[in-house]
Amino acid sequence: MITLKNIVKAYDVKRGSGGSDGSSGNAVDGLDLEIKKGEFVALLGPSGCGKTTTLMMLAGLLKPTSGEIYFGERLVNHVEPKDRNIGMVFQSYALYPHLTVRDNIAFPLRERKMPKPAAFERAKEISRIVQIDHLLDRKPAQLSGGQQQRVAMARALAKNPEILLLDEPMSNLDARLKLDVRDEIRKLQRELGVTTIIVTHDQEEALAISDRVAILNGGKIQQYAPPHELFSQPVNLFVASFLGNPPMNLIPGSIKQDSNGIQSIVTKGFSYTIPATRQLSAEHIGKAVQFGIRPHDISLTGVSDPEAIPMRVDLIEHLGSGKLVKLIDPAHQLNSMIRLLTDNENAVSSGDTVYMRIRGDKFHLFDETNNGSNL
Ligand code: ATP
Repeated sequence: MITLKNIVKAYDVKRGSGGSDGSSGNAVDGLDLEIKKGEFVALLGPSGCGKTTTLMMLAGLLKPTSGEIYFGERLVNHVEPKDRNIGMVFQSYALYPHLTVRDNIAFPLRERKMPKPAAFERAKEISRIVQIDHLLDRKPAQLSGGQQQRVAMARALAKNPEILLLDEPMSNLDARLKLDVRDEIRKLQRELGVTTIIVTHDQEEALAISDRVAILNGGKIQQYAPPHELFSQPVNLFVASFLGNPPMNLIPGSIKQDSNGIQSIVTKGFSYTIPATRQLSAEHIGKAVQFGIRPHDISLTGVSDPEAIPMRVDLIEHLGSGKLVKLIDPAHQLNSMIRLLTDNENAVSSGDTVYMRIRGDKFHLFDETNNGSNL
């Protein structure tokens, strides 16, 4: 339905030969993306990674420096925003303060020369769907943040757009309301079947709401996949460390194999025997890696066994739903703590010696010599 082919956007700023990190300096740098009809896709990444620039190019408010944007078979690079059949909700909502809710929602229809009675009828209809039909005579200043958000959604949807573009649409709402609005947007999107692209820097929001998430960094897509896949099979160190709260533990180490063919990951603080289910091919032996383990994939036991790694509890943080335990290696050789999540029933306390186990074979190895790609 939507195809972005090798999109580059260079803003008109003199930046020398590129970024100090060796990047090209382009805001968007060779982006390929396909979005299916009716799909809900999030563009997620740190500040400045090119999310908004990409959305603006989809909206037609910015032109790509090179590359092609297709809606279906139609090349839209030079199609004006008003002719793209899109609805857009901005972070600021951008409602007209002097107009009533009814006039705000009807505005894009009137712009398209729809007669007033028909436009108002449609405004009423769509306001019922987003449950603000009792507010039609009010002005934006007389509405709560959540209500303004719904008016912005209603206005974006009034034209029955094929594509809905959302730029951080929930960032002005408080945490509780955000959850409600998030569910509503998702439900509405499913009902209407409108292809939707949301820009957000809130990973929880992106993962909760989307069919697929594109993780961007430095104007490039790092990984484009369903939420569970991004989490369980991150393609590189960037995706692995960007997603997850508390973040993935990353411990520098190397891969060794002894004369009996037993493989292990050797770090400064401990060695971990790689289970049979995860044996590595010969080319990886000797490689420098980052050993990645998510905090919820570590469990603790009070007793030693050959697979458990001795550690000392340094700190415990109570999270309400459970505890965040921070471990240090007994000989203080690791440069960082290892974090794990445990339930409230676990009676672990600071100073305890404990044994750390990695659940099943849930760990990741990132190749230091190959841009942190997942082995
Ligand atoms: P944020 O989450 O902070 O909004 P973003 O991922 O949406 O960030 P963009 O706004 O797309 O990022 O910006 C990408 C890059 O392009 C950044 O380095 C930014 O400084 C630069 N940039 C954005 N707009 C302009 C502009 N009008 N002129 C020059 N450079 C710009």
